[in-house]
Amino acid sequence: MSTVTAARAAGHVRPRSADLYHRGRGVFPSGVTRSTVDLDPYPTYLLRGEGAYVVDVDGNRLLDLNNNFTTLLHGHGFAPVVDAVTDLLRKGTCFSNPTDHEIALAELLVSRIPAIEQVRFVNSGTEAVMFAIKAARAFTGRPAIARFEGAYHGAYDWAETGQYGSFDSARTGRRTARSAYTGAPGTTADTVVVLDFNDVDGLEESLMPHAKSLAAILIDPMPSRAGFLKPLPQFIERLSEFAQEHGILIIADEVLNLRQGYNGASFRYLLAPDLVTAGKIIGGGFPIGAVGGRRDVMSVFGSDAKAPLVPQAGTFSANPVSMVAGRVAMEAMTSQDFGRLERLGDRLRSQLSELAVKHDASFSIAGAASLFRIHPKRKVPNTYPDARTTPAEAARMRSLSRFFRENGILLPADAAACLSTPMTDGDIDSVSSAFEMFLTTSEGGKEEAQQ
Ligand code: PMP
Repeated sequence: MSTVTAARAAGHVRPRSADLYHRGRGVFPSGVTRSTVDLDPYPTYLLRGEGAYVVDVDGNRLLDLNNNFTTLLHGHGFAPVVDAVTDLLRKGTCFSNPTDHEIALAELLVSRIPAIEQVRFVNSGTEAVMFAIKAARAFTGRPAIARFEGAYHGAYDWAETGQYGSFDSARTGRRTARSAYTGAPGTTADTVVVLDFNDVDGLEESLMPHAKSLAAILIDPMPSRAGFLKPLPQFIERLSEFAQEHGILIIADEVLNLRQGYNGASFRYLLAPDLVTAGKIIGGGFPIGAVGGRRDVMSVFGSDAKAPLVPQAGTFSANPVSMVAGRVAMEAMTSQDFGRLERLGDRLRSQLSELAVKHDASFSIAGAASLFRIHPKRKVPNTYPDARTTPAEAARMRSLSRFFRENGILLPADAAACLSTPMTDGDIDSVSSAFEMFLTTSEGGKEEAQQ
């Protein structure tokens, strides 16, 4: 009996995915090669993408609200990117020398993002954040970083320490960032200050004891993993004042939230960062990261006078494929296009919120522009502790995500979801109808009993 037949006999509704998972388990820890893959109860393996949709190996067509974790602005197989990259493939995909493609993408970013005067390209958001932190240290001559509990900034040690919270340490007598993995050196946590997002009153008290050792405050203007928390204007103001007063740089991590508009997220929330990190959308579907910012700060990467203060290379940094795909995808995203996606996002968020109220269900909808996140909570959370889910709430989100998948929609269970330009009002309405159907099922409606 083939494994697909066996998977079918075992009652799997997606036998080919079940079979691939079986094979994956032989070669990958927990069967997959990135920890963000939805394993509920096994991954949905994809065959191809078509505009706003993906098709899985079992032949199911799903509206893609994930878009590779918000990367794809134009969905899958966007013709201008396909044509440009196909043309490039024949001419060479990576060189040791620079090309005009990197200058073109850099010029686009500099012209759109007010805080970016100069830029350097890398291959991922993780690298972008790492180099931004190093740049801030080199510029200020200070070692420490402040960051917000719960926010995700990639996998550099100083960026991930504190993502999973903090504890009051008897050793140091202060709040200590929790390491992201067992065995991480405790000295990393000694140079990470953990803050609470939107804590207007506590901000200064938390920062003051470390003011002289802080190189930067690392902030995602609307931290997605922490709950897609909308920044309070007074919070942004206080943070900016404190940083300015104490010579601390602000690094706005816009790897995800650059998607919030033509000029990015900091501009939208009146934050004026010294450095900005970008990734995802600016690669047009190919690996990319960028760190940009003030010309004087960015000069730490230059070697005009002597060796650079921060060496930054990377075998695939500024590879022409990512540069060209990114430029073409971004050029096709005018401010009108951002506006259209935002209107679709508004329509979806208001429809889903109204349905939650109509069915008296414990769900609320966070997000902005083309991004949204469904919370298994009655009120949209404002702080990370409010956004944290109980095991019962997390189970409801998994049920929702599963229900959506069974009804032709791919929704991330505990991350930001997003729209893409090929989506229509009809697609938005189909998400709303699936949500309403879910709310009328026993799983969708029984939250009070579970708590
Ligand atoms: N920062 C933020 C805000 C992110 O959302 C992400 C990725 N989700 C990263 C950094 C890391 O980017 P990458 O996965 O490209 O390393």
